[in-house]
Amino acid sequence: MRDCDVGIIGAGPSGATAAYHCANSGLDTLFVDKSQFPRFKECGGGLSERAMSYLDFPVDDELIEQDIYGARLRFGDEEVEVLKSYRVAGLVTRSKFDCFLVQQAISAGAKFLEGEKVTDLRRSGEYVDITTNKAHIRAKLVIGADGSQGITSRYVRNQLKRNEYAIGLVTEIPTDNEDIDKYIFNTIEIHFGITNMGYGWVFPHEGYFNVGIAGIADALRNPKKILTNFIRERGFHGQYRFRAHRIPMGGVRKKKVADRIILVGDAAGFVDSFLGEGIAYAILSGKIAARVCHNALQNNQGWREDSLSIYNEECYKQFERDLKCSLMLAKLVHRFPKFFSQLMASDESVLGRYLDIPANKLTYREYLRWLKRKVPGFLIQRAMKSI
Ligand SMILES: Cc1cc2nc3c(=O)[nH]c(=O)nc-3n(C[C@H](O)[C@H](O)[C@H](O)COP(=O)(O)OP(=O)(O)OC[C@H]3O[C@@H](n4cnc5c(N)ncnc54)[C@H](O)[C@@H]3O)c2cc1C
Repeated sequence: MRDCDVGIIGAGPSGATAAYHCANSGLDTLFVDKSQFPRFKECGGGLSERAMSYLDFPVDDELIEQDIYGARLRFGDEEVEVLKSYRVAGLVTRSKFDCFLVQQAISAGAKFLEGEKVTDLRRSGEYVDITTNKAHIRAKLVIGADGSQGITSRYVRNQLKRNEYAIGLVTEIPTDNEDIDKYIFNTIEIHFGITNMGYGWVFPHEGYFNVGIAGIADALRNPKKILTNFIRERGFHGQYRFRAHRIPMGGVRKKKVADRIILVGDAAGFVDSFLGEGIAYAILSGKIAARVCHNALQNNQGWREDSLSIYNEECYKQFERDLKCSLMLAKLVHRFPKFFSQLMASDESVLGRYLDIPANKLTYREYLRWLKRKVPGFLIQRAMKSI
């Protein structure tokens, strides 16, 4: 049996960031992951400037495999490409990036248990008993950072319905860097119109393309076939291994705290519903949760759900309102594809200004306020009704 102040389940970006901040604030911190690191994570590896700005330390240069300045967007027959004069994002390989974050947390003093799967949580007296396949841990507070398919959320809220998450299917296509640069350089490629509430993508990494599709689960029929066709249409002809994972649709308000438990990152549902970006919100929510835990442990009753609910308010203020806007934009664009494909093709500023969101120069709320001038009010009202 090991005792700690905070037990963190999951060591992805949300868990490692929470561990870093908990340990830095002097809490006895233990974080545990079922995988041995480095481990594969289904992801495009798009690390926005916004995400980087939420970290307290710079990302090692060698982790950034490609600087991204813009996007090439296909929507039906229309295509538009916009390059900014400043970096919008970097592309990372998640196995390496996640190890880097874990290392930061360990250096800050957090203890890491890897290759241990959490199987059960039980609240008893002043602790939560965390059972793993190897040990028992007693934590005064638990941060659930075990992603969209983890178990901690079960102790806080009902499971998501199939219209509340997307399925992402991804593969890596090994290619020479020269061929990658010929295909696409400093840009990502995004194809709308191939799935409902999602898209297909080609991201150029170091020595491979990351290619994938995502779409809302209850409308996604035969994702393997969709990805296979997408890959062939992009001119790749090998046999590739596909990996699938759930992506929660952010912007739908869900319960995120219970007595002694706080959910962060994908476990809390913090993903941009339009772009599928989750790393930024995983990092930021991990940071907020650590602060809430630190304050809660100063106070006798701080572990109670009503005290921890300050976390909901902080998240809402700092980014959840924006996730709601991302959901609204997703509904607008996917409900009226013809209108938006034509708008994007005829007015480059629609994509140009959008890129300022990951570039951390504009919020979703500001973008939608600006976009409203270009979109008939009745379309917005119809999209709003379905949220
Ligand atoms: C196909 C796809 C493409 C994506 N592309 C992007 C992108 O380009 N950019 C972007 O910003 N976001 C992207 N996302 C979203 C992004 O991957 C997530 O939002 C992000 O990883 C969330 O971080 P997290 O730490 O909350 O969860 P995760 O990164 O999922 O980490 C959860 C950790 O918990 C561990 N775990 C789970 N269950 C247990 C258990 N029972 N016991 C112990 N450990 C457990 C897992 O092993 C894992 O390491 C993509 C997602 C998918 C599926």
